[in-house]
Amino acid sequence: MPYETAIAAVEKFKEYPLKVQFAGGEPLLNFSLVCRIIDYIEKHNYVATFQLQTNGTLIDESIAKGLKKRRVALGVSLDGQPQINEWLRGGTKLTVNGIRNLANQNVKVNVNTVVTAYNVKELHKLPDFVLYFGNVAGIGLDLLRSAGRGKKDINGICPSEPEELRKAMIMMHHRCEDLYHMTGVRIHLREVSEAKQRLRFSQQTKEYCYASCGRSIVILPNGDVYPCGSLIEDEDYFMGNIHGELLKPIALKYKDRSSCTNCRYQVYCPGSCPSRIITNQIVDISDSLDCVMRKTAFEITEKI
Ligand code: SF4
Repeated sequence: MPYETAIAAVEKFKEYPLKVQFAGGEPLLNFSLVCRIIDYIEKHNYVATFQLQTNGTLIDESIAKGLKKRRVALGVSLDGQPQINEWLRGGTKLTVNGIRNLANQNVKVNVNTVVTAYNVKELHKLPDFVLYFGNVAGIGLDLLRSAGRGKKDINGICPSEPEELRKAMIMMHHRCEDLYHMTGVRIHLREVSEAKQRLRFSQQTKEYCYASCGRSIVILPNGDVYPCGSLIEDEDYFMGNIHGELLKPIALKYKDRSSCTNCRYQVYCPGSCPSRIITNQIVDISDSLDCVMRKTAFEITEKI
């Protein structure tokens, strides 16, 4: 992305408190641009927080220091313990070094894990692996969208048995609890923490994310704008170009949640990622892996 495009985006929305997320591809391939954008925002005293999603492979000491200095919240992609991650993603040694370099700077990270048929039975081993780094605050689980590389054989890649996902989450939760009792270090399971918040504080918002309430703007390197990174191949969601007039915001809504009517978590549950409903052509939300993930997180929370 040219610097001018990034600055045009910042200027367009500078009146709002911004949550700027750098994503790719791999955003650290252009770390100098990331730094220039943040430094520009800080110099102008615009209100903003920063997040960056990375595979961690490029994080050396200097990048770790640069991220710390700019207070960037980090999500690192890791799909399992070393042999599983190596098989699914590759570059594990570099990712491990990257997380360690952040640990040396006392920078906390969250790990993001895509659940697939290939790692679902091994996920319970992930908390032990991340505990070893000393700076991993939590693990978030993600499900594949039928977009980009996930387009190829989405059904073959996703766990085929919903029960496998349920079991994996329960085992991960128990392992995180055991590790906490043994070491005093808590690894949060993001989905369970969110469910806890919703149940404990009767958080009844039905919004899933910023895109579901029309407050998300994804800007591509050429300045084209979409409400979500998963929908950039679909012209129906094109919102204009950052260098010109933007169309009105798009709130991604799924219209039919009738199958949730009899669910006891209905008032708390944000349902499924609306982009995934669209890209994966999910018809019945209560029959989706998203539902299994939400329901399991609520069930775990009720037993805590
Ligand atoms: S847990 Fe599933 S069925 Fe229940 S409200 Fe959420 S998405 Fe609907």
